[in-house]
Amino acid sequence: MPNHVGELQLNSNQQLRHLLTLEGLPQETLLQILDTAKQFVSVTNPDREVKKVPLLRGKSVFNLFFENSTRTRTTFEIAAKRLSADVINLDIQTSSTSKGESLLDTVDNLVAMQADIFVVRHKTTGAPIEIAKHLPSHVHVINAGDGTNQHPTQGLLDLFTMRHFKQDFSKLKVAIIGDIIHSRVAKSNIYGLSTLGCKDIRVIGPESLLPSDLDLQGVRVFHNIAKGIEGADVVMTLRIQKERMEQGQVPEGEEYFREWGLTPERMALADKKAIVMHPGPMNRGTEIASEVADGPQSVILKQVTFGIAVRMAVMSIVAGN
Ligand code: ASP
Repeated sequence: MPNHVGELQLNSNQQLRHLLTLEGLPQETLLQILDTAKQFVSVTNPDREVKKVPLLRGKSVFNLFFENSTRTRTTFEIAAKRLSADVINLDIQTSSTSKGESLLDTVDNLVAMQADIFVVRHKTTGAPIEIAKHLPSHVHVINAGDGTNQHPTQGLLDLFTMRHFKQDFSKLKVAIIGDIIHSRVAKSNIYGLSTLGCKDIRVIGPESLLPSDLDLQGVRVFHNIAKGIEGADVVMTLRIQKERMEQGQVPEGEEYFREWGLTPERMALADKKAIVMHPGPMNRGTEIASEVADGPQSVILKQVTFGIAVRMAVMSIVAGN
């Protein structure tokens, strides 16, 4: 990570100001977020009558999603509301960005409306960083996915889920299958896992979907799914990001499934107590079989629920009263 991004996301006291990337984010900060999220799990508990705390009362959270989203946008909104913030979802299709207004001009106008937090998803790598650089110091940015680069809150909710089910990162064997090269989720996970001491991270997929520089991060690469899954404690599979590739770059549908699909037979090679994860959206019959997605080892919907507590933690840490 370039130094200036680290300096941008942490202030001089090493407190989190923006969340832009998990690359280079110190272990203490990662643990602070995961520990805070654990406390918020009880606030989001369905048995609790009033699922709210006043930590962001009077603050405004603007959701700026320039790419589609179901889970991330919605759970950010729920998380902000659980923290008592006001939430504004900018409808990009009907906003003035479609009339040619620049991203930073849009942001300036929203700052003039007294925004406190921007949650930004953009197809361009680095867009949230550019916004963070531009903002006055009291306004915060949370990266909700920039191009193929980073999706830090997804990485954090995945780490939270692994910690919840498996506890000790130093003993964990994590297998990530599929379209790693276009996956901001995989990248955030890999950086977060290695900062938390995970020594066995495997990426599995066809050569065309694995970045060539992964070895540099101490990650093992497998082009054989059975070998890669063997003995794993966590098996995470990813969607093929067709929107970020040229046609014909990978085999489609059934053909992909035959070689790289997560089936019950392949899961049987992992540790007996292994968990199955997927960031969503899931394509059944392409990267995962329904028996696995809905099976007893799947924690895919738990990831979604934990996403609320993790996003509450991030927002309350950057901007809490
Ligand atoms: N929802 C994740 C993302 O925004 C994964 C995906 O789209 O496949 O990166």
